Amino acid sequence: MDKKLRVDKNKCIGCGTCVVLCPKTFQMGKDGKSEVINEKGDSEADIKNAIDSCPVGAISNK
Ligand code: SF4
Repeated sequence: MDKKLRVDKNKCIGCGTCVVLCPKTFQMGKDGKSEVINEKGDSEADIKNAIDSCPVGAISNK
């Protein structure tokens, strides 16, 4: 089954944590919220860490 990494912009509060942890995977959009730029930009472990570190659980990988 294909997994899809995504940020729920309705939940994201723009804290920037995921961008700091995985700068090749996420970037801050013009709306001040994170967006995925490359699903495989950083290692799986780093991406998992970003998912777990998001304070509002806005990042999913299903
Ligand atoms: S860690 Fe979560 S709340 Fe913070 S910018 Fe990333 S997606 Fe948004």
